[in-house]
Amino acid sequence: MKNIYLDNAATTRPAPEVVEAMLPYLGELFGNPSSKYYGVGQITRAAVQKARQQVGRLIGVNNISDNPDDPYEIYFTSGGTESDNWALKGAVMCKSKKHIITSAFEHHAVLETAEMLEKSLGCNVCAKQTACEVTILPVDSTGLVNPDDLRKALRDETAIVSIMHANNEIGTIQPIKELAAITHERGALFHTDAVQTVGKIPVDVNDLGVDLLSMSGHKFHGPKGIGALYIRKGTRLDPFLNGGGQERALRAGTHNVAGIVGMGVACELAMKNMEAEAKRERALVETLWQGLSDRIPKIHRNGHPEIRLPGTLNVRFEGAEGEAILMYMDMMGVQVSSGSACSTGDIKPSHVLLAIGVKQEEAHGSIRFSLSHDTTAEDIQYVIDTMPKQLDMIRQMSVTWKG
Ligand code: PLP
Repeated sequence: MKNIYLDNAATTRPAPEVVEAMLPYLGELFGNPSSKYYGVGQITRAAVQKARQQVGRLIGVNNISDNPDDPYEIYFTSGGTESDNWALKGAVMCKSKKHIITSAFEHHAVLETAEMLEKSLGCNVCAKQTACEVTILPVDSTGLVNPDDLRKALRDETAIVSIMHANNEIGTIQPIKELAAITHERGALFHTDAVQTVGKIPVDVNDLGVDLLSMSGHKFHGPKGIGALYIRKGTRLDPFLNGGGQERALRAGTHNVAGIVGMGVACELAMKNMEAEAKRERALVETLWQGLSDRIPKIHRNGHPEIRLPGTLNVRFEGAEGEAILMYMDMMGVQVSSGSACSTGDIKPSHVLLAIGVKQEEAHGSIRFSLSHDTTAEDIQYVIDTMPKQLDMIRQMSVTWKG
């Protein structure tokens, strides 16, 4: 039985080097990095700082010192969701500016945080009124935000603009550099959720000009439960977790040392192979799209044809239910996803596909293929060879197929 995993936008297999590097920190190197006065604490303290440097280098932060007391601009979190929550909540809590701008095709970690801040009535720390106003920008049929829409939406009281770097379902990459520059003209902070781009395409916080950037280890062959928020020096952001001095007292809680070490190694590996890997995945995605569209009638590609992640392909199949396709593909040993894996179990059509203008009934027939370092040309050929027959069977049973 084949086992072809094409759901790498949901999560990736940790690289063997990552697992190997983590193991000692799950065993004999168990010290708490906050215990700086004895050996085993000092070892883990140094390991956390080394990983911070590795993470920083991947996104263009090259001046992190060896001093573990200096988190500098990389702050470890439990993952992308926490980083997104922190960026938005930290930018508006206890502050006078209360307007948030985001887009209709963000991850739920951003959208639901903005929604919560819009509903929230008061801050339990300072008792100030915290309810925010939120503006949701539309995206075009390829998934791009129009910079003019952002220009019009910005106000003097805008605290933060949060636009994701690349979308997790369709892979469209936003013009972040331009959007950040427009935001700064009006004095607001700019955050990007780069969970799907870090480790896959070049990300340089200085080139992009962002103040805040979210990333997550498990999306690029690192471990789960670990991520980071880049906070540009000088950015005023409230603490996310209180109760300890870790991460400059901005994110309290004992460090997840093994996770942090694993994420550092994943960053190092991603840097080595990035250009060649992106080229390889882009070619495989093209082969997959050509192979499927030559053999299966009435299919469409969702998202931007060029400005997109190299390893993501989202395809809409007329007259076929996404869930049925997933089951048939799974029987053939191929794992893919319909809509975003983060919202699997939720039978509502994907908000991302609705945002780009795909109709409700069409959104249900869309499938995301997402590749990684582990995907081979043979895997792709197998999908091209098996999927047309599966699709034919599904369509024969479907009441929506108008063949
Ligand atoms: N942001 C994006 C764009 C994602 O794709 C995901 C996960 O799918 C997240 C945030 C959440 O990241 P994590 O799983 O690390 O919490």
